[in-house]
Amino acid sequence: MSKPIALLAYQDADLEKQQLEADLRTTENRVRLNKLAKFIKQQQATLNKLNEDIETFSASMSKLNAQYTALLDRLDLETGEFETLKGDEECTSEEMTEFRHDIEKLQREANNLEKEIKQLFRTLDEAVSEFQKTRQQGAKAKKEYDQLKIVCQKEKDDAAIDLLAADKKMEDLEKKVSPTLMTRYKRVRQHYGTPVVAVRDGKCSGCNMSLPSLAIRRLIGEDMILECENCGRLLYADNE
Ligand SMILES: [Zn+2]
Repeated sequence: MSKPIALLAYQDADLEKQQLEADLRTTENRVRLNKLAKFIKQQQATLNKLNEDIETFSASMSKLNAQYTALLDRLDLETGEFETLKGDEECTSEEMTEFRHDIEKLQREANNLEKEIKQLFRTLDEAVSEFQKTRQQGAKAKKEYDQLKIVCQKEKDDAAIDLLAADKKMEDLEKKVSPTLMTRYKRVRQHYGTPVVAVRDGKCSGCNMSLPSLAIRRLIGEDMILECENCGRLLYADNE
């Protein structure tokens, strides 16, 4: 006879409490709440990124606009000079052609810059729309999150009575276990939800490791608990 009845009763109460806690963590509302929290965090990261993009695009836009204005000013100036040269009889036709080419070149540059500005404007516009859309989604999710949080808190409050009862039950059962054994149990409990397991077919039923026959004989022969050398769980001989 080596089944640690009192310790196993304590473990059963411990498992019941673990189950209560697990149920609480995995209610439909709680799972949805966690999903929403993750979603909101992602939305926030997206918003930050979009915000950075918008700032960068805006800065580029200002730069391009300034370039464009300067180019148009130059074009105006050169066109004016060209008109003046037209009336100058000393100006050769080669000079006039060269001047015209310069103006055409400036005109092409201005056209290209205009295209670039339009493209950037579209990109900026898209980023702003995306930002607004993301912010709206985020706000909607936040609203749902706040409502669900209240529901989850209610679930938690409701479960508190059961959890308290489970604590009380464990407290009572702990008194029936020797303090030394309890210390060992609590140490193993840090690693496993079920610290005490039976030996079955010469194996630790926690990790399935075969035990030395000497250990098994000791376990059966004396009323004691061994520690599995492999996983550290507390072992007892299951008589059945
Ligand atoms: Zn083991």
